[in-house]
Amino acid sequence: MNAPTDMARPCADLTATQTSNRAMALPPAARSRVARGLTAAAATGHILHLQCCDRCGALQYPPREACGQCLADTLRWQPQPGGGQLLAQSTLRHSNDAYFAQHLPWRIGTIKLDAGPTVIAFLSESVTPDAARVTVSLRLDRAGEAVLVCQPEQEASMAADSKLQQQMSCDPRGRVVLVTDGATVHGQALVDALLAAGARKVWVGHARAVRLRQTPDRLATRPEVQVVPLDLGDLSSVAALGPMLGNELDIVVNNAQVNRARRAEVSIVDDAAAEMAVNYLGLLQLWTTLGPVLRARGAGNQGPLAAWVNVLSVYALQHFATLGTYSASAAAALSLSQGMRAQALGSGVRVVHVLPGPLDDEAHANVAGPKLGPAALASAIVVALRQGVEDVFPGDIAKEWRDRLHSNPKALERELAHESP
Ligand SMILES: [Zn+2]
Repeated sequence: MNAPTDMARPCADLTATQTSNRAMALPPAARSRVARGLTAAAATGHILHLQCCDRCGALQYPPREACGQCLADTLRWQPQPGGGQLLAQSTLRHSNDAYFAQHLPWRIGTIKLDAGPTVIAFLSESVTPDAARVTVSLRLDRAGEAVLVCQPEQEASMAADSKLQQQMSCDPRGRVVLVTDGATVHGQALVDALLAAGARKVWVGHARAVRLRQTPDRLATRPEVQVVPLDLGDLSSVAALGPMLGNELDIVVNNAQVNRARRAEVSIVDDAAAEMAVNYLGLLQLWTTLGPVLRARGAGNQGPLAAWVNVLSVYALQHFATLGTYSASAAAALSLSQGMRAQALGSGVRVVHVLPGPLDDEAHANVAGPKLGPAALASAIVVALRQGVEDVFPGDIAKEWRDRLHSNPKALERELAHESP
């Protein structure tokens, strides 16, 4: 194999940090290609999925290439309720695996699912020794792979201080967060939601931070909030951020975006350049500046995961002509974010993609359909951090696009082409 080129390493200066982070003990991440169907389901939510045979209808676990009943290879992933009977439970008090050895004891149980198969799952602390009815769900572990977790049937969510929740979530409670753009109503709602979720400190980027100090802003007067000068269109302001924030940073939420929505008074190429400057190059500079800080933080942390949230757009997945140049910049940002996620694997940092449909703001004034308000977007981000999921589609339009792109992407592409202005 040829030696890697700089093209293969978009953030080449991060190599040293990657090397040190590999020493961090993580759960085993090896999975077969077919088993990554569970990882895909865990990345978007907690709902248990099982393989279902198209020919005989059998549900099976663990994942296999063919049906265990009739050997057909036409298997589809189906969501399942997750209810079941706890048959047996045990506590691991010794392990040769470095990660599990660090976190002993681990409780595991055997559950006969109502759907049919029997599975082995991690037990939350709230599962009592005499428990019978339980619910099995999917979670991403610290290595970013799917594991089965078992809770009491009546428990809606795991307690924030439970060991499993600590290992698999990015809960903002008690943590230091950076929100890159506090100038918009969406950014301000996000800061409010993070503080309500218990964030200890929120750095808030603002392109006019100096002026804000002279004209007190609602955010700037809150004791937990520190406004910092930050404009993702000005790469030098992004580069200056590292020394300002120091090493005490647990979560980055990049919500800074430019969406020119094809404004008529400037040329379309100018619009595209302004959008790419912030949405793609600004994010790249931000990752180059803060990525090593966050990954070092995540690698040394045994509590909740560090997190990097990129607020993108569902238009990153399919070109939308009304917001044509913005769609292209969103696609570039999504591609970059996928690279960030790959680099972050193994460092205790979860990279979360938030892909909303049209927001309730000026840039989406000419877009039809239900718009996503500031509080709804902020709430979706906080919930995603608590759940430790990777991919979030807030709002009805985003969910519809997700489902249509999954079932028939060409149909959506053609429909939007016919609707284009
Ligand atoms: Zn079958």
